[in-house]
Amino acid sequence: METSFEVLTALVKNNANVVVLTGAGISIQSGIPPYRDHSGKWLGSEPIQHQEFLDNPSKRQRYWARSAVGWPAVARAKPNDAHQILARLERSGLISLLVTQNVDRLHQKAGQQRVIDLHGRLDRVSCLDCKAGFERSEIQQELLESNPFLGDIRAELAPDGDAAVAEKIVSKVKIPVCPECGGVIMPDVVFFGGAVPIENVQLVSRAIESCDVLMVIGSSLMVYSGYRFCRQAASLKKPIVAFNQGKTRADELFTLKIEEDCVATLSALETLLQ
Ligand SMILES: [Zn+2]
Repeated sequence: METSFEVLTALVKNNANVVVLTGAGISIQSGIPPYRDHSGKWLGSEPIQHQEFLDNPSKRQRYWARSAVGWPAVARAKPNDAHQILARLERSGLISLLVTQNVDRLHQKAGQQRVIDLHGRLDRVSCLDCKAGFERSEIQQELLESNPFLGDIRAELAPDGDAAVAEKIVSKVKIPVCPECGGVIMPDVVFFGGAVPIENVQLVSRAIESCDVLMVIGSSLMVYSGYRFCRQAASLKKPIVAFNQGKTRADELFTLKIEEDCVATLSALETLLQ
Protein backbone atom coordinates (compact mmCIF):
# COMPACT_ATOMS: atom_id res chain seq x y z
CA MET A 1 0.00 0.00 0.00
CA GLU A 2 2.80 2.40 0.94
CA THR A 3 4.67 1.70 -2.29
CA SER A 4 1.44 2.17 -4.25
CA PHE A 5 1.08 5.63 -2.75
CA GLU A 6 4.69 6.47 -3.54
CA VAL A 7 4.02 5.59 -7.17
CA LEU A 8 0.74 7.51 -7.06
CA THR A 9 2.30 10.71 -5.70
CA ALA A 10 5.12 10.46 -8.20
CA LEU A 11 2.53 10.38 -11.00
CA VAL A 12 -0.03 12.80 -9.62
CA LYS A 13 1.89 15.85 -8.55
CA ASN A 14 0.22 19.11 -7.66
CA ASN A 15 0.81 20.57 -11.09
CA ALA A 16 -0.35 17.51 -13.01
CA ASN A 17 -3.24 17.72 -15.46
CA VAL A 18 -5.51 14.83 -14.52
CA VAL A 19 -8.53 13.52 -16.43
CA VAL A 20 -10.82 11.41 -14.26
CA LEU A 21 -13.17 8.68 -15.47
CA THR A 22 -15.72 7.44 -12.93
CA GLY A 23 -18.18 4.56 -12.88
CA ALA A 24 -20.86 3.02 -10.69
CA GLY A 25 -18.41 2.16 -7.88
CA ILE A 26 -18.20 5.80 -6.84
CA SER A 27 -21.96 6.11 -6.21
CA ILE A 28 -22.46 2.93 -4.14
CA GLN A 29 -21.94 4.84 -0.89
CA SER A 30 -24.65 7.25 -2.02
CA GLY A 31 -27.10 4.34 -2.08
CA ILE A 32 -27.08 3.69 -5.83
CA PRO A 33 -26.52 0.01 -6.67
CA PRO A 34 -23.82 -1.01 -9.19
CA TYR A 35 -24.28 -3.16 -12.29
CA ARG A 36 -21.53 -5.63 -11.55
CA ASP A 37 -19.88 -7.34 -8.62
CA HIS A 38 -16.11 -7.30 -8.02
CA SER A 39 -15.50 -10.15 -10.45
CA GLY A 40 -17.26 -8.20 -13.22
CA LYS A 41 -20.34 -10.43 -13.09
CA TRP A 42 -23.65 -8.82 -14.01
CA LEU A 43 -26.06 -8.28 -11.10
CA GLY A 44 -29.84 -8.21 -11.46
CA SER A 45 -31.99 -8.21 -14.57
CA GLU A 46 -30.91 -7.39 -18.10
CA PRO A 47 -30.94 -3.65 -18.84
CA ILE A 48 -33.15 -2.16 -21.51
CA GLN A 49 -31.73 -1.83 -25.01
CA HIS A 50 -32.01 1.40 -26.99
CA GLN A 51 -33.74 -0.10 -30.02
CA GLU A 52 -36.29 -2.12 -28.06
CA PHE A 53 -37.29 1.01 -26.12
CA LEU A 54 -38.03 2.71 -29.46
CA ASP A 55 -39.72 -0.25 -31.13
CA ASN A 56 -41.67 -1.92 -28.39
CA PRO A 57 -44.37 -0.16 -26.31
CA SER A 58 -44.32 -2.97 -23.73
CA LYS A 59 -40.60 -2.31 -23.13
CA ARG A 60 -41.40 1.39 -22.62
CA GLN A 61 -44.16 0.43 -20.24
CA ARG A 62 -41.71 -1.74 -18.29
CA TYR A 63 -39.09 1.02 -18.27
CA TRP A 64 -41.45 3.69 -16.94
CA ALA A 65 -43.11 1.40 -14.38
CA ARG A 66 -39.74 0.46 -12.89
CA SER A 67 -38.36 3.98 -13.21
CA ALA A 68 -41.38 5.47 -11.41
CA VAL A 69 -40.43 3.39 -8.37
CA GLY A 70 -36.63 3.65 -8.73
CA TRP A 71 -36.23 7.32 -9.63
CA PRO A 72 -37.08 8.94 -6.26
CA ALA A 73 -34.02 7.33 -4.61
CA VAL A 74 -31.76 8.78 -7.32
CA ALA A 75 -33.42 12.19 -7.02
CA ARG A 76 -32.79 12.15 -3.25
CA ALA A 77 -29.25 10.71 -3.41
CA LYS A 78 -26.51 12.90 -2.00
CA PRO A 79 -22.89 13.04 -3.15
CA ASN A 80 -20.54 11.08 -0.88
CA ASP A 81 -17.00 11.91 0.23
CA ALA A 82 -15.49 10.62 -3.02
CA HIS A 83 -17.58 13.09 -5.07
CA GLN A 84 -16.69 15.90 -2.62
CA ILE A 85 -12.95 15.18 -2.75
CA LEU A 86 -12.97 15.16 -6.56
CA ALA A 87 -14.77 18.53 -6.59
CA ARG A 88 -12.08 19.92 -4.27
CA LEU A 89 -9.30 18.48 -6.44
CA GLU A 90 -10.86 20.25 -9.42
CA ARG A 91 -10.93 23.56 -7.52
CA SER A 92 -7.27 23.09 -6.60
CA GLY A 93 -6.45 22.81 -10.31
CA LEU A 94 -5.56 19.12 -10.42
CA ILE A 95 -8.50 17.83 -12.47
CA SER A 96 -9.03 19.32 -15.91
CA LEU A 97 -12.02 17.15 -16.86
CA LEU A 98 -14.17 14.53 -15.18
CA VAL A 99 -15.90 11.99 -17.39
CA THR A 100 -18.57 9.88 -15.75
CA GLN A 101 -20.43 6.80 -16.88
CA ASN A 102 -23.00 7.49 -14.15
CA VAL A 103 -26.31 9.16 -14.92
CA ASP A 104 -27.02 10.25 -11.32
CA ARG A 105 -25.58 13.82 -11.52
CA LEU A 106 -23.86 13.38 -8.15
CA HIS A 107 -20.62 14.95 -9.37
CA GLN A 108 -22.52 18.11 -10.32
CA LYS A 109 -24.38 18.05 -7.00
CA ALA A 110 -20.97 18.00 -5.28
CA GLY A 111 -19.97 21.13 -7.22
CA GLN A 112 -17.79 19.59 -9.95
CA GLN A 113 -17.80 22.09 -12.84
CA ARG A 114 -16.23 20.36 -15.84
CA VAL A 115 -18.13 17.09 -16.18
CA ILE A 116 -19.03 15.02 -19.23
CA ASP A 117 -22.02 12.76 -18.57
CA LEU A 118 -20.87 10.11 -21.03
CA HIS A 119 -24.09 8.10 -20.73
CA GLY A 120 -26.42 11.05 -20.29
CA ARG A 121 -28.48 12.15 -17.30
CA LEU A 122 -31.45 10.65 -15.58
CA ASP A 123 -32.94 13.95 -14.39
CA ARG A 124 -33.97 15.05 -17.89
CA VAL A 125 -36.40 13.60 -20.43
CA SER A 126 -36.85 14.47 -24.10
CA CYS A 127 -39.58 13.98 -26.66
CA LEU A 128 -38.40 11.97 -29.65
CA ASP A 129 -41.07 13.60 -31.83
CA CYS A 130 -41.08 17.36 -31.06
CA LYS A 131 -37.67 17.35 -29.26
CA ALA A 132 -39.03 19.28 -26.26
CA GLY A 133 -37.11 18.69 -23.03
CA PHE A 134 -38.56 18.16 -19.56
CA GLU A 135 -37.45 17.70 -15.98
CA ARG A 136 -37.69 14.07 -14.90
CA SER A 137 -39.60 15.27 -11.82
CA GLU A 138 -42.32 16.70 -14.07
CA ILE A 139 -42.69 13.34 -15.81
CA GLN A 140 -42.73 11.61 -12.41
CA GLN A 141 -45.75 13.70 -11.48
CA GLU A 142 -47.50 12.71 -14.70
CA LEU A 143 -46.60 9.04 -14.09
CA LEU A 144 -48.04 9.06 -10.57
CA GLU A 145 -51.16 10.99 -11.57
CA SER A 146 -52.06 8.48 -14.27
CA ASN A 147 -50.86 5.48 -12.22
CA PRO A 148 -51.57 6.35 -8.57
CA PHE A 149 -50.91 2.74 -7.43
CA LEU A 150 -47.21 3.18 -8.32
CA GLY A 151 -46.74 5.59 -5.42
CA ASP A 152 -47.26 2.80 -2.87
CA ILE A 153 -44.91 0.22 -4.34
CA ARG A 154 -41.70 -0.69 -2.58
CA ALA A 155 -39.24 -2.68 -4.67
CA GLU A 156 -35.55 -3.49 -4.63
CA LEU A 157 -33.52 -0.75 -6.30
CA ALA A 158 -31.50 -1.56 -9.41
CA PRO A 159 -28.84 0.59 -11.14
CA ASP A 160 -29.74 3.78 -13.01
CA GLY A 161 -32.96 4.58 -11.18
CA ASP A 162 -34.49 1.22 -11.97
CA ALA A 163 -36.41 -0.98 -9.49
CA ALA A 164 -37.58 -4.58 -9.53
CA VAL A 165 -41.32 -3.97 -10.01
CA ALA A 166 -43.44 -7.13 -10.46
CA GLU A 167 -44.53 -7.84 -14.03
CA LYS A 168 -48.22 -7.98 -13.07
CA ILE A 169 -47.96 -4.34 -11.92
CA VAL A 170 -45.92 -3.34 -14.98
CA SER A 171 -48.70 -4.50 -17.30
CA LYS A 172 -51.19 -2.08 -15.69
CA VAL A 173 -49.05 1.03 -16.17
CA LYS A 174 -50.08 3.81 -18.52
CA ILE A 175 -46.98 4.99 -20.40
CA PRO A 176 -46.27 8.72 -19.99
CA VAL A 177 -46.23 10.76 -23.20
CA CYS A 178 -44.86 14.15 -24.20
CA PRO A 179 -46.76 16.89 -22.32
CA GLU A 180 -46.41 19.10 -25.43
CA CYS A 181 -47.34 16.83 -28.35
CA GLY A 182 -48.31 13.42 -26.95
CA GLY A 183 -45.25 11.84 -28.59
CA VAL A 184 -42.81 9.22 -27.33
CA ILE A 185 -40.58 10.44 -24.51
CA MET A 186 -37.26 8.99 -23.42
CA PRO A 187 -34.87 9.81 -20.58
CA ASP A 188 -31.72 11.69 -21.71
CA VAL A 189 -29.74 8.53 -21.08
CA VAL A 190 -27.65 6.42 -23.43
CA PHE A 191 -29.20 2.96 -23.13
CA PHE A 192 -27.24 -0.16 -24.01
CA GLY A 193 -26.96 -0.30 -27.77
CA GLY A 194 -27.38 3.49 -28.02
CA ALA A 195 -24.62 5.83 -29.14
CA VAL A 196 -22.61 8.26 -27.01
CA PRO A 197 -22.84 11.68 -28.75
CA ILE A 198 -19.78 12.08 -30.97
CA GLU A 199 -19.05 15.62 -29.71
CA ASN A 200 -18.61 14.21 -26.18
CA VAL A 201 -16.27 11.49 -27.42
CA GLN A 202 -14.18 14.13 -29.23
CA LEU A 203 -14.09 16.41 -26.20
CA VAL A 204 -12.86 13.61 -23.95
CA SER A 205 -10.33 12.46 -26.56
CA ARG A 206 -8.83 15.94 -26.76
CA ALA A 207 -8.65 16.16 -22.95
CA ILE A 208 -6.82 12.83 -22.86
CA GLU A 209 -4.36 13.99 -25.51
CA SER A 210 -3.34 16.93 -23.33
CA CYS A 211 -3.51 15.28 -19.89
CA ASP A 212 -0.61 13.94 -17.83
CA VAL A 213 -2.53 11.16 -16.10
CA LEU A 214 -5.82 9.35 -16.61
CA MET A 215 -7.41 8.33 -13.32
CA VAL A 216 -10.12 5.65 -13.40
CA ILE A 217 -12.33 5.40 -10.30
CA GLY A 218 -14.94 2.73 -9.54
CA SER A 219 -15.40 1.31 -13.01
CA SER A 220 -14.90 -2.19 -14.35
CA LEU A 221 -14.68 -0.60 -17.83
CA MET A 222 -16.74 -3.44 -19.26
CA VAL A 223 -18.60 -0.97 -21.48
CA TYR A 224 -16.64 0.09 -24.56
CA SER A 225 -17.53 3.80 -24.25
CA GLY A 226 -15.28 4.12 -21.18
CA TYR A 227 -12.75 1.44 -22.08
CA ARG A 228 -11.92 3.22 -25.36
CA PHE A 229 -10.41 6.15 -23.40
CA CYS A 230 -8.06 3.83 -21.55
CA ARG A 231 -7.00 2.37 -24.88
CA GLN A 232 -6.39 5.87 -26.19
CA ALA A 233 -4.40 6.94 -23.11
CA ALA A 234 -2.32 3.75 -23.27
CA SER A 235 -1.57 4.26 -26.96
CA LEU A 236 -0.38 7.81 -26.14
CA LYS A 237 1.82 6.36 -23.35
CA LYS A 238 -0.09 8.33 -20.70
CA PRO A 239 0.03 6.76 -17.25
CA ILE A 240 -3.31 5.29 -16.13
CA VAL A 241 -4.06 5.03 -12.43
CA ALA A 242 -7.09 2.99 -11.31
CA PHE A 243 -8.88 2.92 -7.97
CA ASN A 244 -11.18 -0.04 -8.26
CA GLN A 245 -12.07 -3.01 -6.13
CA GLY A 246 -12.06 -6.01 -8.40
CA LYS A 247 -11.25 -6.94 -11.93
CA THR A 248 -11.56 -4.54 -14.86
CA ARG A 249 -11.38 -4.94 -18.61
CA ALA A 250 -8.33 -2.65 -18.76
CA ASP A 251 -6.20 -4.19 -15.99
CA GLU A 252 -3.28 -4.81 -18.33
CA LEU A 253 -3.24 -1.13 -19.38
CA PHE A 254 -2.90 0.32 -15.89
CA THR A 255 0.33 1.83 -14.61
CA LEU A 256 -1.00 1.50 -11.07
CA LYS A 257 -4.09 -0.10 -9.61
CA ILE A 258 -5.22 0.42 -6.02
CA GLU A 259 -7.89 -2.05 -4.94
CA GLU A 260 -9.07 -0.25 -1.81
CA ASP A 261 -12.24 1.62 -1.03
CA CYS A 262 -12.22 4.66 -3.34
CA VAL A 263 -13.09 7.15 -0.58
CA ALA A 264 -10.09 5.97 1.47
CA THR A 265 -7.79 6.16 -1.55
CA LEU A 266 -8.98 9.59 -2.62
CA SER A 267 -8.70 11.04 0.84
CA ALA A 268 -5.15 9.64 1.15
CA LEU A 269 -4.33 11.24 -2.20
CA GLU A 270 -5.80 14.56 -1.12
CA THR A 271 -3.69 14.53 2.05
CA LEU A 272 -0.53 13.64 0.10
CA LEU A 273 -1.09 16.62 -2.22
CA GLN A 274 -1.51 19.15 0.62
ZN1 LIG B 1 -43.32 16.17 -27.99
